[in-house]
Amino acid sequence: MLNCSSPLKMTSRLLWVAFKLAALTLSVTLSLQPEQQKVLLVSFDGFRWDYLYRVPTPHFHYVMKSGVHVKQVTNIFITKTYPNHYTLVTGLFAENHGIVANDMFDPILNKSFSLEDMNIYDSEFWEDAIPIWITNQRAGRASGAAMWPGSDVKIHESFPTHYMLYNESVSFEDRVAKIIEWFTAKEPIHLGLLYWEDPDDMGHRLGPDSPLMGPVISDIDNKLGYLIQRLKEAKLWDTLNLIITSDHGMTQCSEEKVIELDQYLDKDHYILIDQSPVAAILPKEGKFDEVYEALAHAHPNLTVYKKEEIPERWHYKYNNRIQPIIAVADEGWSILQNKSADFMCEYVTVVSSHSASLFAKVDAMDNTVVY
Ligand SMILES: [Zn+2]
Repeated sequence: MLNCSSPLKMTSRLLWVAFKLAALTLSVTLSLQPEQQKVLLVSFDGFRWDYLYRVPTPHFHYVMKSGVHVKQVTNIFITKTYPNHYTLVTGLFAENHGIVANDMFDPILNKSFSLEDMNIYDSEFWEDAIPIWITNQRAGRASGAAMWPGSDVKIHESFPTHYMLYNESVSFEDRVAKIIEWFTAKEPIHLGLLYWEDPDDMGHRLGPDSPLMGPVISDIDNKLGYLIQRLKEAKLWDTLNLIITSDHGMTQCSEEKVIELDQYLDKDHYILIDQSPVAAILPKEGKFDEVYEALAHAHPNLTVYKKEEIPERWHYKYNNRIQPIIAVADEGWSILQNKSADFMCEYVTVVSSHSASLFAKVDAMDNTVVY
């Protein structure tokens, strides 16, 4: 079984959620001075909203009871990891913060950005925005990031005060250890960012609807339990504002729902910058009309847009890294250049629309910073 994605309903719900949380937390009496307030933002990649109810998740429910829970967070367009994680730390849509996909080409810089090659360390891709760790540091406070996407890239001449070089083999426990160390240091951080690759990784491999996802979700819940335990041991639980969220959900795909670009396009006429569920297509010189006409009505489950026709509500138009043509697959459908060559989970993946979950444990007497 495979899983894939499609983008839907990209609204500003994330911002609405942020507003709701801010409204809620600002209404409580403040017992700590701003310089004493601390926030830990945790992302479990690809934690679909309903995972919470698929198997017992006592630690998530403990956080919900201790604080607040919103039923969904709507990701931005497109529904990929890097664009959404940069939104979480900048408050901007992809067209504004510039990380418009996991795989990009910037025609002005004449440079490519590829998550697959981890070719992401070029500062110029990140500097359309200022991530919150820099804002925090400019306010005179320290930040610490454990594998948060982009946090080991030099942005506007800065790194987080403390950070870990990205290495997916570093355990969750080791990442938590660093976070605890930074929050309890002689000069403690006020902002911590913690990233974990699952359940996204296993969701790609198994498909989000697979019964085999049950143990994966249980494992994430146990990891959250471990984090809570360590925060309590370090006497941080009562003073820290903890926000747990995710970047996108997932939709089940199948091998029967694949759109092969080779059936419609001459591959010498374009470059495929990003693949699925939103194909980013760069026609070669003089081939724009030919490529667009060939694809526009090619498949009933594919909607093709010239860049200037991309719906405004997606906030995905005004950036050089958005290609002249994008082709958007319906939910559950995947786009591949060639099925026989490319039918791999990593392409027929993931990511979709229907929102992730967000939980926040807010101490009754604390303020919370939400962004
Ligand atoms: Zn992700």
